[in-house]
Amino acid sequence: MILVAGGGLAGAAAACDLAQQGRPVTLFERERVARHKICGEFISIEARRHLASLGLDLDALGAVAIERVRVARGSSLIEAALPFTGSSLTRRRLDAALLSHAAASGAGIRTGCLVRRTVTESGATGLELDGGEGVRGEGVLLATGKHDLRGMRRSPPGRSSRSQLCFKSYFALLQASRTALEGHVELMLFRDGYAGLQMVEGGIANLCLVTTSDRFAHAGGDWRGLLQSLTAESAHLRHRLQGATDRLDRPLSIARVPYGFLHRGGEEAPCDLYRLGDQMAVIPSFTGDGMSIALHTAKQAARAVLTGEAAAAYHERMHRALRPQMRIASGLSALGRSTGGQVALLLGARLWPGLIQRLAIATRVPDLPVLP
Ligand SMILES: Cc1cc2nc3c(=O)[nH]c(=O)nc-3n(C[C@H](O)[C@H](O)[C@H](O)COP(=O)(O)OP(=O)(O)OC[C@H]3O[C@@H](n4cnc5c(N)ncnc54)[C@H](O)[C@@H]3O)c2cc1C
Repeated sequence: MILVAGGGLAGAAAACDLAQQGRPVTLFERERVARHKICGEFISIEARRHLASLGLDLDALGAVAIERVRVARGSSLIEAALPFTGSSLTRRRLDAALLSHAAASGAGIRTGCLVRRTVTESGATGLELDGGEGVRGEGVLLATGKHDLRGMRRSPPGRSSRSQLCFKSYFALLQASRTALEGHVELMLFRDGYAGLQMVEGGIANLCLVTTSDRFAHAGGDWRGLLQSLTAESAHLRHRLQGATDRLDRPLSIARVPYGFLHRGGEEAPCDLYRLGDQMAVIPSFTGDGMSIALHTAKQAARAVLTGEAAAAYHERMHRALRPQMRIASGLSALGRSTGGQVALLLGARLWPGLIQRLAIATRVPDLPVLP
């Protein structure tokens, strides 16, 4: 039995894949039902392809097509076609659909089941569940996303990530804003951060943003104050949110996301424990590529377990494959958070209209061949 800790996109995709290959697999997810998650919910073409290869049809789930991008800063605005058609769908709907699909494919799914830690005995790794139950398997896939298991901590975030805060909420926009936003993802740059806005299914818009704890504190330390401060700075955001109503009682938030983390592996780690999704790599959010990496590493980890590839070799392979995009994305993220970098980015995009497309392509993780 292969064990999967965590039932977000990475864990559910790996469980689904393994079950479809006829391997016994059980997934443990701490939540009873899928909930909203901090995510811009932009689904890249690569992520869409991965999901389609597992048999999940995003259009049937109500995904919205995204074909163009706008970048706004102050009163400046540029627009470009994306180099591919993206999609957008709430994580609540997507994660629930993928978990159900994994179950229908034959995976054992235990929801409401918190994994406490991994336990390695006589060279084989298993899981200890909340309540003390132990489960033993032939390989563990670690897919707990942003949450680390005891003893399996990722390296701490760098200084700039340590001070970052992420927020997400949904808004019902006025019709004029909805019409203007249709088919677009909008990236708004502001002092110390950026926000993404796009429609999801059901006619509501997802606003997801990254800022600093300093700015949040200066805005009064609450969501309303932060929104006021951002709309005062960004004419575009102000315009879009005019007359809009917040659809969540309070926004989702998260601190200390280890942006730029890329697992390197180490000889001390168990040879049958494979990291995937955010446990393998955390790419800066603005790329809209985190889900693609989650699905990509899920596919590769499933193959590694199936073929008996040692975890260290798998981690090294993933590290090599993801490093170029992680470097570019981390560099761009630093640029995009500084005033000079933002001005240079917009100026560059004005002078060279293909720049945005080139950057979008440069931060994508190509579909790697899997081991035979
Ligand atoms: C602000 C922000 C915006 C983003 N925007 C985008 C975007 O627009 N497009 C994009 O592609 N990516 C985006 N991402 C990245 C994307 O959300 C993640 O990369 C992706 O969710 C990773 O999937 P995962 O399966 O590894 O983790 P998750 O989706 O976080 O899933 C992990 C699962 O493990 C479960 N779990 C955790 N601990 C335990 C435990 N101990 N026991 C059992 N279960 C456990 C959790 O409940 C969860 O369901 C964004 C990220 C951030 C922070």
